[in-house]
Amino acid sequence: MGYKKPSFIENIAEKIGIIPNLHKEGYQEFDQDMRHFTDEEVAQMYENFPPPEKWDNWVEYDPKAWPKKVKKSYQIIPTTCFNCESACGLTAFIDKESGEVKKFEGNPYHPGSRGRNCAKGPATINQLTDPDRILFPLKRKGKRGEGEWERISWDEALDTISARIRKALKEDRHNEIAYHVGRPGAEGFMNWVLPAWGIDGRNSHTNICSSGARFGYNLWYGYDRPSPDHAEAKFILLISAHLESGHYFNPHAQRIIEGKMKGAKLATMDPRLSNTASMSDYWMPSYPGTEAAVLLAMALIILEEGLYNRDYLENWTNWQEYLKAKHADKEVTFENYIAAMIEEYKEFTPEFAEKESGVKAEMIREIAIKIGEAGERFASHNWRSAGASNLGGWAVARCLHFLTVLTGAVGAKGGTSPNSWNKFKPQVPHTPKPQKKWNELHFPNEYPLAFFEMSHLLPHLLKAGRGKMDVYFSRVFNPVWTYPDGFTWMEMFLDEDKFGLHTALTPTWNETAFFADLVLPMGLASERHDINSYATHGGTWVAFRQPVLREAARRNGKPVTYTYEANPGEVWEEDEFWIELSWRIDPDGSMGIRKYFESPNKPGEKITIEEYYQYIFERIEGLPAVAKKEGLTEFEYMTKFGAFEIEKGESYKKNETPLKPEQLEGTEVNKENGVISKNGKDIGVMINGKAVVGFPTPSRKNEFYSQTMVDWKWPEYATPTYIKSHIHNDVLDKSKGEYVLVPTFRLPTLIHTRSGNAKWLVEISNRNPIWMHPDDAAKWGFKTGDLVKMNTDIGYFIDKVWVTQSMKPGVVACSHHIGRWRREKDKTGNRWATNTVNIENKENGKWKMSTKSGIKPFDSDDKDSKRIFWKDGGVHQNITHAVHPDPISGMHTWHQRVRIEKPGPEENYGDIFVDTNKSHEIFKEWLAMTRPAPGPDGLRRPLWFKRAFRPDESTFYINKEKDE
Ligand code: SF4
Repeated sequence: MGYKKPSFIENIAEKIGIIPNLHKEGYQEFDQDMRHFTDEEVAQMYENFPPPEKWDNWVEYDPKAWPKKVKKSYQIIPTTCFNCESACGLTAFIDKESGEVKKFEGNPYHPGSRGRNCAKGPATINQLTDPDRILFPLKRKGKRGEGEWERISWDEALDTISARIRKALKEDRHNEIAYHVGRPGAEGFMNWVLPAWGIDGRNSHTNICSSGARFGYNLWYGYDRPSPDHAEAKFILLISAHLESGHYFNPHAQRIIEGKMKGAKLATMDPRLSNTASMSDYWMPSYPGTEAAVLLAMALIILEEGLYNRDYLENWTNWQEYLKAKHADKEVTFENYIAAMIEEYKEFTPEFAEKESGVKAEMIREIAIKIGEAGERFASHNWRSAGASNLGGWAVARCLHFLTVLTGAVGAKGGTSPNSWNKFKPQVPHTPKPQKKWNELHFPNEYPLAFFEMSHLLPHLLKAGRGKMDVYFSRVFNPVWTYPDGFTWMEMFLDEDKFGLHTALTPTWNETAFFADLVLPMGLASERHDINSYATHGGTWVAFRQPVLREAARRNGKPVTYTYEANPGEVWEEDEFWIELSWRIDPDGSMGIRKYFESPNKPGEKITIEEYYQYIFERIEGLPAVAKKEGLTEFEYMTKFGAFEIEKGESYKKNETPLKPEQLEGTEVNKENGVISKNGKDIGVMINGKAVVGFPTPSRKNEFYSQTMVDWKWPEYATPTYIKSHIHNDVLDKSKGEYVLVPTFRLPTLIHTRSGNAKWLVEISNRNPIWMHPDDAAKWGFKTGDLVKMNTDIGYFIDKVWVTQSMKPGVVACSHHIGRWRREKDKTGNRWATNTVNIENKENGKWKMSTKSGIKPFDSDDKDSKRIFWKDGGVHQNITHAVHPDPISGMHTWHQRVRIEKPGPEENYGDIFVDTNKSHEIFKEWLAMTRPAPGPDGLRRPLWFKRAFRPDESTFYINKEKDE
């Protein structure tokens, strides 16, 4: 029995007391878990979806032929969506007559998305059929950035790149090779490729995205992401708009709603009345950057009211270490721990939090009590939002996790687990050893605690003469447009001494590809192989993205050797590209690279894509038995169903996993803190006389007190803290028209770059006006549609005003998705979404962009391109932002101090100005805020901190000669 909505009569009867109110506020336990439907219920749900036995020949009426009843036969092949990080299941419907993909629907066999998708999933069909897509490899003609291109073969592209990489490796210039990724969308593949080349060459977008929050979580428990168990929660707290556009968007959204249907209460902290806030029981419109003050006030209430989980705090936080370090005069007792915390946070009264944030003290108190009462069933999320926007934004995640610790909800059912507990990690063939290189262009010594590569600083580090990129790949990555300070990127791309060979691996034209030497078309969701696994709920799954036309050809007895043979034009996929490139870098095997890319079954031969994935799939727990039952190999099973559920949702409290007897052999126990070590490595901790694995922190517990922060020169942040943001009210001069701009919010229908070629999505969302409260608009005399000049630290952009009650007074906001552009000389690309602009660099470093024309209808094979009715392509705001790297986490802090004014008579909508000399000065100002390595023992980074593509441990120590 699931939840039954009350009928109209029941509602009335309950309200007037004729029958008991069974639907009243409060949590209602289901007698059947929503996530574990009965077999009958599942069968009923799937009834509406074609059953797998009919996937090779599915017949349905053609909706376009309506009202005639015309039958169409399809072959249905599963894959996964590539339009955000959730990798929801899709099924491609291939017309058996034309052999073309006609539409995408959900895949009910995908445990994360369970057959459902957001608008961006089915819109994959637009991306496939976009008349502007890149179908063949291209090489630039003329100077870089001039917009002239010629078609080349894949062989020419591979030979050009491999020769250059080989030369760099032979000359020991490993750090001049980099692969810079925007949307990875895959598990494990590049961890295999780049260490095999021996380079520390991976750069990512994470420091403009999530590393702030990751840092805050990591300090606590050695895991860097949360996995909230929304469906089982009693109270859900979201910092920002996770219901409509957050991380793992659709899978999380459906589970948040399930939680709510069962009676969970939802609170959202966000200065915007987002769709998420509007669905919430509590909206806390906080002033940006003050979230940690609110969270600490809640923590204080939970402590003072005695609503904390004593058992959890006593066993699973390092309170003894805290008391000894910070309160040496006190006896080490649990009572003193609680008293010391209350003392430590005494200033964080709800009234103080209200003063800082604008959120009413009574609401803060009410929510704190509800969180305390929810206990272990408190789920929360803070991903990009506040963590990605403020100086000290990482402290927001740290304070949020403080509530999770106080309630004992860490890893609990209905609580918030570490992401890694719900994520599958593939085991690849011929695993290479970690590289023995450390690339200081990605991890400079000024940022020893930076959680990911300082990718937003790359152009400034190049400008400062700290190195060069001889071979640079941008992969589904568009820093000229998505990053702050895009003109500095442009300047560096135009300088061939800074960026040598720039290869853009991309499914679509973008503002960065215009400045590449080679543009290589890579497949969309249904045109490539990848494996995906994400922490969408309290279970673990693996999904398979596959090129559906290739798979159809295989099933129909016409197999191809390479994916580009089946895809449109010569669109390829990265997996095969990297294998091929690796062989060409080391054609005779003498460099020790080729061996990693040889077949595990036929030594000396090149590994095939089937062999690579079969190797991984046959090692997934449970999959071999299930595949065997179907009479399939593991690879065939995944091509047929597209996903496999590894574990249904018992992955709670994994920190309590007992150490096995063989693990305990030869171990030592630290008498002071109970940490168990073996061969110099910590492997567990003693809790109540039991040896368990604990968390991967120095204390193996949640670290309320961080000795790491003390050791790395930040003692003032030894415990969870509120850090005033760079856009705190104190630093704004309201008399000069200074406001805080929230430039980060996502629209649920768009992706950063790749929705520019999806007509349905652009039709829905195509402008990014400045959200402004009526009181602020009245102050300025603005009405909706008026032009507004937004002055940033390095320039300005001119946008339009949208007057709305949905914005907190004193704060303005602008969506970061829109404002795509191309110059007249550029190849036609994304014409559904791009303005045509003029760009000038009149004086050295003084860049001006103006809009020549908006979006227009155009002729193409797609009749809809003549029907475009929208004209306004919005404004590119990010390019006017300076880099603001948090000195600790390294996260770019997106919120901007802006000076609002009315534009002059000569100024127009879409005008942009930036002075890159100023932006380089600001880079230096923020660099001066750091406290550089070395840390203890000459380390450049704490050994216990994770690092993406972690190099050999020897590289963590700064070379002594270098210091002298
Ligand atoms: S949430 Fe939407 S865009 Fe993201 S993977 Fe799922 S269907 Fe695709």
